[in-house]
Amino acid sequence: MREVLLAKSHALQRWGVEDSVELYGIRTWGAGFFDVSEDGDVVICPHGTRGPRIPLPEIIAGLHERGYDMPVLLRVENILSSRIAHIHESFRKAIRTLGYKGEYRGVFPIKVNQQQQVVDQIAQFGSRYHHGLEAGSKAELIAAVALMRDPDACIICNGYKDEEFIDLALQAQRLGFNIFLVLEMPGELDMVLERAAALGIRPNVGVRSKLSVKAGGHWTDSGGERSTFGLSPSQIVDVVDTLKSRQMLDCFRLLHYHLGSQISNIRDIRTGVMEAARLYSGLVEEGAPMGYLDLGGGLAVDYDGSHTNYVFSRNYNLDEYCADVVETIMSILDEKDIPHPHIITESGRATVAYCSVLLFNILDVNVVEEARLPETLPDDAPEAVRNLQEALAGISLRNLQESYNDAVYYRDEVRRMFSTGAVSLRQRTLAERFFWAILMRIAKEKGKLKNVPRDLEDIDVNLADIYYGNFSVFQSLPDSWAIDQLFPIMPVHRLGEFPSRQGIISDITCDSDGRIDHFIDPQGMKPMLDLHPLREGEEYYLGVFLVGAYQETLGDLHNLMGDTNVVSIRAADDGSYEYVREIRGDSVSDVLSYAEYEPRRIIENLRSAAERAVREGRISPSERFAVMQAFEDGLRGYTYFER
Ligand code: PLP
Repeated sequence: MREVLLAKSHALQRWGVEDSVELYGIRTWGAGFFDVSEDGDVVICPHGTRGPRIPLPEIIAGLHERGYDMPVLLRVENILSSRIAHIHESFRKAIRTLGYKGEYRGVFPIKVNQQQQVVDQIAQFGSRYHHGLEAGSKAELIAAVALMRDPDACIICNGYKDEEFIDLALQAQRLGFNIFLVLEMPGELDMVLERAAALGIRPNVGVRSKLSVKAGGHWTDSGGERSTFGLSPSQIVDVVDTLKSRQMLDCFRLLHYHLGSQISNIRDIRTGVMEAARLYSGLVEEGAPMGYLDLGGGLAVDYDGSHTNYVFSRNYNLDEYCADVVETIMSILDEKDIPHPHIITESGRATVAYCSVLLFNILDVNVVEEARLPETLPDDAPEAVRNLQEALAGISLRNLQESYNDAVYYRDEVRRMFSTGAVSLRQRTLAERFFWAILMRIAKEKGKLKNVPRDLEDIDVNLADIYYGNFSVFQSLPDSWAIDQLFPIMPVHRLGEFPSRQGIISDITCDSDGRIDHFIDPQGMKPMLDLHPLREGEEYYLGVFLVGAYQETLGDLHNLMGDTNVVSIRAADDGSYEYVREIRGDSVSDVLSYAEYEPRRIIENLRSAAERAVREGRISPSERFAVMQAFEDGLRGYTYFER
């Protein structure tokens, strides 16, 4: 891809904004919410392609003026509202076009982004569509009940339940909420019936079914007969029998399943719905009133913009998803004249991924320099170094693999000799310089080969620049580390300039896993990102896009890097925008207290160490004041790099 663009730009003698648009694929994954301006800045299009465009560098400048340092997690409220509206409008269109008799009721699974700002906005904006919430624990249920104001929206209680969870749900039902208790294990039914009898409430019972089908991808184990959650068909029939025997079959209202997240192939979605609709139909034939079919999550996000069934993409769009779901349910239920149920989906990722962008600055770059090689070797240069010099001189298109093998062999020999003391530090350094010079020459030459030998394919990666980003992968992009998830990453400015460097991104934790070395590419994935050289005295900003789902909740405190600053903006129709909500990131004192340190005790200990130093004459009392002030400021400061 880069080669094609390079060739093209050379032909045009100029790199332009459109080349960057193509290189970073922003219009393929941006879903109309992100683009590049004529000035070469990434712009946010909060109302889609035809609305106003807000340059990200302008937002960053505004953040600095308000005293916010990078990294910042930027949320765009309009994008979140727009996603909810889009999901509902697509279902409405499919329902209207196909003549479906039920309604669509979406719910947002709180676990996907538990932050109050996000859930609150979903509850508020979603009320015009009766968009509800899904809770998988007691804490999530309390949050859902506290934030939900619309009595017609559903609150779906998934997850394992104890008596307290069940009581909370039943009490919320008493308050007028439309609550469903979904059985995840057979044993939960007795508990639900017992608590319902004790509180005098007829519960809305749902069942999570284990479907036999499995979807592909990372979360495939969420589905299938061996999945951890849900009831088998025979256990579901037992539920019917128990409810019948207690004259409570009228409480059986909902069938639920969840095949896994990020289902990238529409075929898996269709087969799941088909099996669930058959089960639903069987339950109605058993006499259960039902009324709701809940398809769980799984609606995927096209992170790499390839529109394929690749694990970080999807081979369907939202309209196709909705039409397939509605049509499949209809076709199966119409065979037996069974009334169409309300359709619930628990789309998390597809609802919130787009609304958040992680912004960070680059602190420094490590560049593999052209090696400085001597004209003649010193007399004491070991044989292996002479061999490396010869290998460098002899490189040709015909012997790239052989030269590579020689380079590795002699470099390793010098390293071995160094460890036994046979080679000095300076001699070893010389060997390393020749080694890198050989690799650079090979990397340059291999572009001329039609078939590049396997060993040489990734040679450029060894020569890639390392861009040090002011953020923590573990805190802000945990899925990039844990499951090698791809997110679109790109510079947010200078896009009219040719990105002449290729690099990987390292975070500021001291962990070798704290790096990003796989990036989206129309051909699948690439090991380096095209970047611009840093300019003296000027910040260079990158954005990681589509990070609104799962990343905030799963982040951890590696190296005690805490939560980043979070700022939300809301744009008006005329393109003006406000910074509507701001949450300061964790201070050093905050993260220390999460790890059970007591900041007050830390200060006391530091104070006595400083006083001891005064007593021992190492510092003066006024120096003690300065030392203590530095530590106290440090505790109040941001956990990330501050300029
Ligand atoms: N519903 C349930 C029961 C889940 O476990 C999950 C997440 O895995 C979701 C919904 C959300 O899935 P997604 O984010 O793919 O829409």
